[in-house]
Amino acid sequence: MKINQHYLELEKSYLFTMISKKVAQFQQQHPEVDIIRLGIGDVTLPLCPAVVEALENASAEMGVKETFHGYGPEQGYDFLKEKIAGYYAEKSVSLAPDEIFISDGAKSDLGNILDLFDADNTVLIPDPVYPVYVDTNIMAGRKVVFANADASNGFLPLPDENTDADIIYICSPNNPTGAVYDHAGLKAWVDYAKKRDAVILFDAAYESFVADPALPRSIYEIEGAKEVAIEFCSFSKTAGFTGTRCGYTIVPEALVCGGVGLNGLWLRRQTTKFNGVPYIIQKGAAAVFSEEGRRQTLANIDYYRENARILADTLDRLGIRYTGGKNSPYIWMECPNGMKSWEFFDYLLENAGVVGTPGAGFGTNGEGYFRLTAFNDHENTEKAAKRIEKLLSK
Ligand code: PLP
Repeated sequence: MKINQHYLELEKSYLFTMISKKVAQFQQQHPEVDIIRLGIGDVTLPLCPAVVEALENASAEMGVKETFHGYGPEQGYDFLKEKIAGYYAEKSVSLAPDEIFISDGAKSDLGNILDLFDADNTVLIPDPVYPVYVDTNIMAGRKVVFANADASNGFLPLPDENTDADIIYICSPNNPTGAVYDHAGLKAWVDYAKKRDAVILFDAAYESFVADPALPRSIYEIEGAKEVAIEFCSFSKTAGFTGTRCGYTIVPEALVCGGVGLNGLWLRRQTTKFNGVPYIIQKGAAAVFSEEGRRQTLANIDYYRENARILADTLDRLGIRYTGGKNSPYIWMECPNGMKSWEFFDYLLENAGVVGTPGAGFGTNGEGYFRLTAFNDHENTEKAAKRIEKLLSK
């Protein structure tokens, strides 16, 4: 028996462990400090009433013989897929229900999709980025090359004709930088993928935070993208489903690689290895698209947007450069006075009692940057913003 040696090539995931350790140590030494966490990437508002009602009704249905549901379709119930297709139609993207696959969240599918691709492919991943893309490819033994995201390109790298890649990751709005591609940026990637016969894996987990109607929320808003891109999305940040678990992956019929349609391949993969998302959860997700559900989830997103605005305004007053915060729950700030990411983490914790996430934890280009999130409540966010302003205006 031999284990998959590639697991041994993974770097220790110490970012959040290290943060917890440092915070616990500081709190022990300074129990009087009320620490505010702006490092969290999890939502804090509860599920909206329309979703809760749908979950309750579906639970009751499961207790009655006539309305009980056993195994459902692996790729999701039509009632949810139709709602998602309707949501895309609002963005002028037409999707057939069979192109939509319901999942238990974007993270699983971002990892699972790699089953479809040979280990020999070269993968292009932006740096800095959501660490799951890198680690899942290392596990499979794939060669990873990086696209530099930095201040010179507004943290939105464009294709480099000298780089060869078969699989390309794009995350927009981006975690951790909060940067969002415009149509021209995404079109450049679609054109590049077409030229190289490459596939784009587009992570739209934060699409619902895009407030500017001029910015794309789906890669399929770009002409021809259906021929080259798979899109991953999630109810986690849109509707507070981080603990409820539901997402969806779109594999267009038009996406053909080496003469093989990826839609059929993914269907085969899912029907073999996955038994679907619970009926109750899919009913809850469908309620996100009801009139009430839309209104209530939007109100929650607006609540987080207001937090982002408070933090962004503070950085504006301090003259600190940042990306994100306007169409994203993340604010990616330059550490003041040339401080390194971890140095600034310690400085902010020790002098303001505020916790963020050191940019260096997201990749080499994250050094010197720091991520703040909009997921705390108004009161704490305002308090943290005041403390940051007081400390950094010295
Ligand atoms: N994609 C990005 C960029 C994320 O930041 C996250 C979670 O933080 C996910 C995907 C995971 O989403 P889900 O909760 O649907 O698995």
